[in-house]
Amino acid sequence: MPDFGIVIHGGAGTILREKLTAELEAEFRQGLVESLSAGYEILNAGGTSLDAVQKAVTIMEDNPLFNCGRGAVFTYEGKHSMDAALMDGRTLAVGAVAGVRQIKNPIVLARLVMEQLPHILLAGEGAEEFAQANGIALMPDDYFYTERRWKNLLETRASATTDHETSHGTVGAVALDRSGNLAAATSTGGMTNCRYRRIGDTPIVGAGTYANNKTCAVSTTGHGEFFMRGVISYDLSAMIEYRGMTLADAAAHAIHHRLADIGGSGGLIAIDGRGNFALPFNTPGMYRGFFMDGGKAETAIFRE
Ligand code: ASP
Repeated sequence: MPDFGIVIHGGAGTILREKLTAELEAEFRQGLVESLSAGYEILNAGGTSLDAVQKAVTIMEDNPLFNCGRGAVFTYEGKHSMDAALMDGRTLAVGAVAGVRQIKNPIVLARLVMEQLPHILLAGEGAEEFAQANGIALMPDDYFYTERRWKNLLETRASATTDHETSHGTVGAVALDRSGNLAAATSTGGMTNCRYRRIGDTPIVGAGTYANNKTCAVSTTGHGEFFMRGVISYDLSAMIEYRGMTLADAAAHAIHHRLADIGGSGGLIAIDGRGNFALPFNTPGMYRGFFMDGGKAETAIFRE
């Protein structure tokens, strides 16, 4: 049994095998390895799972390849709207932000919400006001401009229907530390061309993000409306807590039955206190990886 370990995803909604060149694939894998290694280093040195998942997600937020932070997709208005959350499985403490536009690392802001406020979820301008009050500078719009995402918006606008396979994505991390504590973190730029400042599952406790030392830590990616309707992360945890299911069975059930039965697509990562982990998805692929105590950083994209 591993003493500690980290599992990450880089989204399930942006991949079509025919569009992924060997070069781009190598870049994605490199991005995943960097994130995994940073989280692993913290855990290996005896750091907390909370710090490890935050660091792993921060690194993907700074990487323009992933739909979060710098590489966030464009909204209908040609702006950005990012959501992030993290949860401590030891205390069930949560911090989350939704609909933020100018924050370089929404996951860092979510951590501040958890630690500084009696609230757990801040949205929009209020979240940005709180950021500034805590010395976090707002980034100009062009920091979040990537040509790939802009083209994506133009293509989506031009086609009659939104291509849910390629127009979204999210990143997340779940970890177990040497003290046996679990944590989860998720960060997203939402879905391309979304309107009315729509908010997805990522910052909603129990939908896109959940952690509880009694059961597991979970982070999801996919069509967020379905993850909220199915309360997927909490449901997975509840299957373990109340039905005594194994992590693998509960995670598979959450995606292949509970999510699929209502027509949802996506995937999740989950880890339990014994170092068991699962990475199920029902999309063509999901950027993902794990790095367990004594092992090495492993990454995968499609069904391999
Ligand atoms: N779940 C995210 C959302 O709905 C998007 C994604 O993971 O692809 O905002």
